[in-house]
Amino acid sequence: MNKSDSERIAGHLEKRGYKKSAEREKAGLVILVTCGVRQSAEDRIYGLVPKIKKENPKVKIILTGCLVNREDVKRRLNGYVDAWMPINKIFNFQFSIFNQFTNFQFSNKKQKDKISCDKDDYLSIKPKYSSKFSAFVPIGNGCNNFCSYCVVPRARGREVYRPAEDILKEIKCLVKKDYKEIILIAQNVNSYKSEITNYPLRQSDSEASKLQITNKSNPPAGGQNSKLKFINFSGLLKLINDIPGDFWIRFFTSHPKDMSDELIKAIAASDKACRHIHLPVQAGDDEVLKKMNRNYTVSHYKSLIKKIRRGLPDVSITTDVIVGFPGETKAQFNNTVKLFKEVKFDMAYISRYSPRPGTAAEKLKDNVSKIEKKRREEELMKILRKTALENNKKYIGKIVDVLVEGRNKRGEWYGKTETAKNVKLGIKNPPNSAGKQELGIRTIIGEFVKVKINKVRGFGLEGEIVK
Ligand code: SF4
Repeated sequence: MNKSDSERIAGHLEKRGYKKSAEREKAGLVILVTCGVRQSAEDRIYGLVPKIKKENPKVKIILTGCLVNREDVKRRLNGYVDAWMPINKIFNFQFSIFNQFTNFQFSNKKQKDKISCDKDDYLSIKPKYSSKFSAFVPIGNGCNNFCSYCVVPRARGREVYRPAEDILKEIKCLVKKDYKEIILIAQNVNSYKSEITNYPLRQSDSEASKLQITNKSNPPAGGQNSKLKFINFSGLLKLINDIPGDFWIRFFTSHPKDMSDELIKAIAASDKACRHIHLPVQAGDDEVLKKMNRNYTVSHYKSLIKKIRRGLPDVSITTDVIVGFPGETKAQFNNTVKLFKEVKFDMAYISRYSPRPGTAAEKLKDNVSKIEKKRREEELMKILRKTALENNKKYIGKIVDVLVEGRNKRGEWYGKTETAKNVKLGIKNPPNSAGKQELGIRTIIGEFVKVKINKVRGFGLEGEIVK
């Protein structure tokens, strides 16, 4: 989400004549989109902001993102930061403020006349995409869930969703430009809802009435030829799937309490939705989940996994988990271990709990020691390495579609599968002295290729391009 916000800020500034500085040391203005989800992310800002000022004392620094409302952060960075702006307000600021900061000279009068921006729907700001084949498309912002450890509802506010027509327009534009991966993002995609009025439906779309959300105050108009009034996330997914073109649809993040059977069916019926579900479990113990205010139980989570695997047989499942939540006993942690062994995740992002200011969990005693948190993290990692490798073995000998992403520092080409597996790509005929083969491969960055998998690791696959 922060990356996507940065792309919109860059797009907004460039439209007003600003240019990205080739070197940070020479920039007139630096805008930092901060993350406060973990202490480690916050700590990075404390190191980075003084460093930027030291290397370039004249630079003006604006801070936005999760940390802007925190008084303790403001005190700590006092004297370094020139303005604090909430992310959804950053586009409302009079650009004369930036101008004053940077001594920016408008290149023509027209730009000067348009220096202010009063957009409230900041999600609709046209981004400057950082990739030429994969794009983040925000469908919403904020969260209503108030998990007890999380800063997001306070930092980003309550849920706001972007109109479906706006999203569809952006995606059509991206597909026209040959984008191959559309990543829909929101804190909780499953809660998406939007009124939709002008989007033409296919006459034959027998699913049309199913896309409508039955709502007593806004009953569906009914009938196949009627226009949609409201759609949910499954409905949105179906409409995106209908856009002609060769592209993948990914989405992040799903909340286990809101993931519906309807959505699983919509993914199964889609030829573009990736077979990868990221479903943060956070803990494998009901007591801990209750303290986290997650509003589901372990048995609900497990039955959801069963349904997903039944509906989407080749799916990969990834998760987020927190170890050492306040009061988490060894027995409670062992329930998470049990869950890890049972579910056999393909990947897990394991965080050691750190109290976040302003959250409900901050008031609980952070009584699991750092060493014990590390031990718990390592124990889960050990299981994950095994289960991920076991899952990856199923790929041996298979031919899979891979979206080529680039070349790493070691000179190896890489990409990923729709199941979000990283793939190292071997080249069948090694490059000749003129590097011809290399050039051939270079042209397929951002393209789909068929790859025969011949080797697997815990967190990745290796294979040869066969087409
Ligand atoms: S669902 Fe919970 S963890 Fe996710 S953003 Fe909302 S409050 Fe934070």
